[in-house]
Amino acid sequence: MPTEELKQDAALYLMQTYTRQPLSIVRGRGTKVYDLEGREYLDFVGGIAVNILGHGHPDLVQAIQRQAAQLIHTSNLYYTEPQVKLAHMLVDHSFADKVFFCNSGAEANEAAIKLARRYSHEKYGAGRFEIVTMRNSFHGRTIATLTATGQDKVQKGYEPLLPGFSYVAFNNLEQLKRAVTDKTAAIMLEPVQGEGGIYVADREYLKQARDLCSQKDVLLIFDEVQTGMGRTGTLFAYEQLGVQPDIMTLAKGLGGGVPIGACLARDSVAKAFSPGSHASTFGGNPLACAAGLAVCRALLEGQVLDHARRMGEYFAKGLLDCKERHRVVREVRGLGLLQGIELDMDGQAVVRECLARGILINSTGEYVLRFVPSLIITQLEIDRLLDTLAQIFDIQAA
Ligand SMILES: *Cc1c(COP(=O)(O)O)cnc(C)c1O
Repeated sequence: MPTEELKQDAALYLMQTYTRQPLSIVRGRGTKVYDLEGREYLDFVGGIAVNILGHGHPDLVQAIQRQAAQLIHTSNLYYTEPQVKLAHMLVDHSFADKVFFCNSGAEANEAAIKLARRYSHEKYGAGRFEIVTMRNSFHGRTIATLTATGQDKVQKGYEPLLPGFSYVAFNNLEQLKRAVTDKTAAIMLEPVQGEGGIYVADREYLKQARDLCSQKDVLLIFDEVQTGMGRTGTLFAYEQLGVQPDIMTLAKGLGGGVPIGACLARDSVAKAFSPGSHASTFGGNPLACAAGLAVCRALLEGQVLDHARRMGEYFAKGLLDCKERHRVVREVRGLGLLQGIELDMDGQAVVRECLARGILINSTGEYVLRFVPSLIITQLEIDRLLDTLAQIFDIQAA
């Protein structure tokens, strides 16, 4: 269907929740995608930090094809090998002892919120249920997770919100200390705020937050939905930041594009969930878990993680260099292949200019460009983006 017609039908038949770029993507290969007219685009969006192995990765495709032919779905009334194996793999490579599978980032955070409330309820009784989250955070779009999200624009019009949340400024220890009371069950944060504009947590802040939580048996929840699965150069961002959480959530990159989410915790916390206390029909289904296993294997047994770390460093240097040369770039922030630059101009204008030059990028907020390419991005491709940005900024300055 021609793009114009597709746009018209989308306006007719889809609820209008998204602002879309005017192109229809039909195919992907590696770090490139192709539109209906056959034009090629270098993809620095990666399905919003999802396609970590790029498009059409042979091992991932084969794992999905094989599993689809064998068994797509049964239910959690029975055991399935891919689910148990994926949980085993995640446990082997993280602080956690147990995994609950679901289908998205929001659901993973729902599970984390429910687990924290239940843990606290069982140990301390009713009334100790509050969760402290960060301003400018993003945790999802369900009622609980949009309440957890410290952004008015996400919450507006959905009142009444869920009771039991309070908000503090990110990286502000004094505020955090004041916010934690005898009603607090958990602190929830992103090690790097993604949607909020790529802000990295301070190591010292996290260490103090960890100490505070340990002293008061308040659970520390890391939302690694965006930062997990090698995005920041280590399998999980917390590994680089010097602290371990009590609960961690994953989604985006975990299935390499197949919807899957996960909530991980240590045994002492996970045991607050018992049979019947939480569930998901699709959660951990064989197809999604086979995809997750293929992704984990590529990261851990292949070279992808090492490559991602090196490319992240190269990219960050390149962006800092770009800042030196172009006044329009105010700041460079990020970790690994989660990079952002804050601009003195409208980010959407740069997104459009990049699109016209065959590169997909994304802006978050008005002034921040976010780069979350697949972890197989190459030095040459990073150079191409940097050259293109330089061209656009030069025209802007002229
Ligand atoms: C994307 C994102 C979510 C929400 O994930 P969905 O799969 O869209 O529900 C939650 N937390 C963080 C940090 C995210 O980046």
